[in-house]
Amino acid sequence: MRKLFLGVLFCSLLAPVVAPADEVVVYSSRKEHLIKPLFDRYTRETGVKITWLTDKAGPLIQRLKAEGRRTPADLLLTVDAGNLWAAAEQGVLRAIDSPVLERDVPAHLRDPEGRWFGLSKRARTIVYSTERVRPSEITTYEDLAAPKWKGRLCLRTSKKVYNQSLVASLIAHHGEAEAERIVRGWVANLAAPPFSNDTKTMQAILAGRCDLAIVNTYYFGRLQKKNPDIALALAWPNQQGNGVHVNVSGGGVTAHAKHPEAAQRLLEWLASEAAQHDFAAINLEYPVNPRVEAADAVRAWGAFKEDSLDVAEYGRLQAAAIRLMDRAGYR
Ligand code: FE
Repeated sequence: MRKLFLGVLFCSLLAPVVAPADEVVVYSSRKEHLIKPLFDRYTRETGVKITWLTDKAGPLIQRLKAEGRRTPADLLLTVDAGNLWAAAEQGVLRAIDSPVLERDVPAHLRDPEGRWFGLSKRARTIVYSTERVRPSEITTYEDLAAPKWKGRLCLRTSKKVYNQSLVASLIAHHGEAEAERIVRGWVANLAAPPFSNDTKTMQAILAGRCDLAIVNTYYFGRLQKKNPDIALALAWPNQQGNGVHVNVSGGGVTAHAKHPEAAQRLLEWLASEAAQHDFAAINLEYPVNPRVEAADAVRAWGAFKEDSLDVAEYGRLQAAAIRLMDRAGYR
């Protein structure tokens, strides 16, 4: 009896009867509290184990480069098409062929070569003081360069990729010379030096330092959640023209993934109808999957026309945008 038991044990050590469950290793610049609930659910539903590490986008891309073939990472998740584009340019992502992702993620929100895919959308739009600005006064991003806003505009630093992508979109729509004229106008209208983040920028409006600013919708949503009566509101500019500037968070399978199929299945699930509502809602963002609705709190901000510019342009024009902002004195 004892011999038999040992024999079974020995055999099971040598040749496991059950194949090891799939696993996926994720490097994420999307914060842990935004991804963990989704990953936990995926593991519950599929048995696939997910391990992850979070850091800022730049260090994660550098880490993937330094680790090369030895990387344990199968999937990179990050925010802003500018970062996703940079990751692809630096060779840390692989092209995948996924009819599922091509169906669930609109073409302008993913890499034309299949190396990255948007998973949530955020609008970078105008926020204003409901005490000092009438919504009808707000028309376009370009109009924020007009003299009527002198000493009334606050902006976040040009070092942030979100603003680099926004200025890249101005270049795509207007060409460099006109985009530079617009950015110079913004700088001339600044009420204060640029702020380090979107929340501080909005707090400057609340403190009466300025009357309007450009921010990502979910940062406004966080303030509104804490204070439903906040004296700020979102405006949707460029509705007669190109539409509101939108960007994505997203991901791609790494070039040296050890579990590329499992990583692709996780990416496909994150873009699916099953996961999209929660993936977007947890950060007050919009789903990329057109068959999925945003959370009620997000839809309450109102419907708007979105800019349908290919978000890959934000990456292609990023270096030009950085140089332009530097020339225009946007710090
Ligand atoms: Fe952000």
